[in-house]
Amino acid sequence: MGFWWRPLSMLASVLLVALILWLASGAVTALVFLTGIQALVMLRRLWQEYRLSRWLENPDEVTPPDAMGTWGDIFYRLEKLQRRQRDSRSELTNALEQFEHAAQAVPDGMVILNGSDQIDWCNPASRKYMGLDCERDRGQFIRYLLRQAHFIEFLDAADYSRRLVCKSPVNREITLSLQLVPFGEAKKLLVARDITELERVDAIRRDFIANVSHELRTPLTVVGGFVETLADAPMLPASETRRYFDLMLDNTRRMQHLLDDLLTLSRLESDDHSLKDEEVNVPELARALAAEAGSLSGGRHRIGLDIASDANLRGSLQEIRSALGNLVSNAVRYTPDGGGITLSWRQQNDEGVFAVTDTGEGIAAEHIPRLTERFYRVDRSRSRETGGTGLGLAIVKHVLTRHGAHLNIQSTPGKGSTFSAVFPASRLVVSQPSATVIPFPAQEQAVG
Ligand code: ADP
Repeated sequence: MGFWWRPLSMLASVLLVALILWLASGAVTALVFLTGIQALVMLRRLWQEYRLSRWLENPDEVTPPDAMGTWGDIFYRLEKLQRRQRDSRSELTNALEQFEHAAQAVPDGMVILNGSDQIDWCNPASRKYMGLDCERDRGQFIRYLLRQAHFIEFLDAADYSRRLVCKSPVNREITLSLQLVPFGEAKKLLVARDITELERVDAIRRDFIANVSHELRTPLTVVGGFVETLADAPMLPASETRRYFDLMLDNTRRMQHLLDDLLTLSRLESDDHSLKDEEVNVPELARALAAEAGSLSGGRHRIGLDIASDANLRGSLQEIRSALGNLVSNAVRYTPDGGGITLSWRQQNDEGVFAVTDTGEGIAAEHIPRLTERFYRVDRSRSRETGGTGLGLAIVKHVLTRHGAHLNIQSTPGKGSTFSAVFPASRLVVSQPSATVIPFPAQEQAVG
């Protein structure tokens, strides 16, 4: 009723005045009065319509018309409606801006395709992975830009549960996993994810399983063969039976050794295996390892010990022992009889260097960067003959990395090698200046 009250009361007043004029001065006066009022109303209406159309043309710049009565009410409601629209427009713009920023930050390539597979939009990562440019390629058919046959087939199949694994058309080093996701009315989102690292890890896993199976197959076949022979011919001479048992024991030990190394590696790699913080007495450990080398060698080599520092190390005694022990046993295994092996411990440029030098067969330069890979061997048969698992240096590398240390390998084929574990100054425990206390003189000392 609020809206109608004012115009109806005005109309009633005008009619009342016209009636009074009619009764007092006659019908002509009343008609002249009514015509005048009508003309005024029309003029006012025209004026307000003009102001309304001006305001509607440019509502942001022109202030809304100020009017009384019904027109004031109309202007007020229109302005309210317009303010609401402006608010929701700015909310929408904010949401769009946020989406734009999020899409730019997404590491995956994303392309929106319309029903005809034309590009509607794409994010910056799609340039890196697919060479697309949002400005340049908008409206282009994606099949003309990515022309590989398997991609076209993938696009046409529109099998949304399928992923296509392929090389990036702009960088063959990158492996992509492509997926199509339908949305809206016949639209599709093409997502390209970089799975290069996943592929690499998967290849390592496959190689690792193949290597472990291969390593276990040979000793298992040997043991199985002897068990069969013994079962088929129980009356074999005792000496032969003894030999078979010895060989079976050898191969069982080999498998045991492999499993031990695998468990050590897996323990070192597990995240929850935190590093112990013990003080490792390196001079004492060096003496023990030199004695071990002596018993492994059984007198076939000259073993030397050169301790030029009394510094200790902070870390895990068990891990450091196992890493340095691996270097020592390798030196014994890869040095022909009559050769020499020297263990040394010294401080050099603030670092602690534990080195194992041998006069063995040496290693050609191209193999050196790969020696710490699991199961990498220069000479497979020599490694197996001497009971190697191919995991020793991988374990050494892991242990050293956990201690912030690294392995240096210097080798000359035919002359020998030096494997040095270099520990950072932060791991050294130096009780006194190394020059004053030297438990072993800095010279080679024969052990074992
Ligand atoms: P393995 O059990 O075969 O010895 P490692 O990981 O300990 O495995 O060593 C990897 C390879 O590095 C060995 O197979 C061998 O070819 C080479 N190697 C390691 N130490 C020496 C060394 N002191 N002299 C010569 N070659 C070595």
